[in-house]
Amino acid sequence: MVFRILRTDSALVWNNKELRRRFLRYRGIIDDKEVARYIVAKSLSCEFNSNDTIEDLEKLLEEKSLEFNELLKNPIQDIKKRNIASKNYIDLAEEIAIRYLEDCIFCERQCSVNRIDGEKGFCLISKDSYISSAFLHTGEEAPLIPSGTIFFQGCNFGCVFCQNYDISQKWKERRKIEDIAQKVDVKQLAALANRLVEKGAININYVGGDPIPNIHTIVGSLQYQTSNITQLWNSNFYLTDKSLSLIIDFMDFWLPDFKYGNNECGKKYSGIDKYFDVIARNHKRVHDEGSGEIIIRHLIMPNHIECCSKPILDYVAKELPKAVMNIMQQYHPEYFAHKYKEINRRPSMEEIHEVKNYADDLGILYEPVS
Ligand code: SF4
Repeated sequence: MVFRILRTDSALVWNNKELRRRFLRYRGIIDDKEVARYIVAKSLSCEFNSNDTIEDLEKLLEEKSLEFNELLKNPIQDIKKRNIASKNYIDLAEEIAIRYLEDCIFCERQCSVNRIDGEKGFCLISKDSYISSAFLHTGEEAPLIPSGTIFFQGCNFGCVFCQNYDISQKWKERRKIEDIAQKVDVKQLAALANRLVEKGAININYVGGDPIPNIHTIVGSLQYQTSNITQLWNSNFYLTDKSLSLIIDFMDFWLPDFKYGNNECGKKYSGIDKYFDVIARNHKRVHDEGSGEIIIRHLIMPNHIECCSKPILDYVAKELPKAVMNIMQQYHPEYFAHKYKEINRRPSMEEIHEVKNYADDLGILYEPVS
């Protein structure tokens, strides 16, 4: 029996009725009144074999997703009685993820490299996953702590101001991944997650770098995880629609970044195409089709209030009404930010107030988690 002890500030945040209403299912899993989605997915039987074409498997995934979402509507006592199927929905998602690795389309960079054969795309991650650290994080948003946070090495972005550049970017220039991170397979990742639960984690938080290049390992590990615990995706959210389909039903909680309010700033500072189009699409999908329990992280950047912060807040207010936002003000120039004069300082208090006032005017819920 694992006793989960919430820190005082974390416990207090649940007094906010609106926040509790928006995160009803997440809170229910903490209290053991709900069942984590991945456990429900393991009870959904799935027949396929290794000769099936990728198109057949993708079609089956769509059908199973519909079935899964119908299943979730059943009373909780009926869901709790279900048994794990020997071949199930998670097996299917893992099989498809491994096929995608042969021609990698996990993120919208769509490098099309064969990672099974050892080729590497922009993220420089082959078929193996590497963990740089894993611990109980008490610095995350109040409703999420203590969070069982697992940091994956490597990232599909190239942000010039990266605050985490040691595990996302800098190692690429000078070090082998084996020297700075620990290789994990699906069973080892599950064991790591189970240990974090034993230590008191109230969620398993996949982050990095970014978890996207490691979808196959994360999905595969769910087969070996055993606790009724929230699965949380903490990411830049630059997934393809196809790879989002592999995880959308298994994640209980979403913690995506929303950095830029347009495509141009995404290209200039992170080196990626169609930033806003992709990120907005993925937010909309998890809001409407996934659990819908989301904290969106937006980092206020200097001189980017009109082009980034405000368009993002407009989008959230209009399209993502169930989401809660963490409006973050801790930006400081790191890594190569000094090469860009306009972002080579912290945001001013005037800029921070302007963004928060704008969010207030739009009725966005952000204070309990910011
Ligand atoms: S995860 Fe993204 S960056 Fe990495 S190889 Fe695949 S498509 Fe490329």
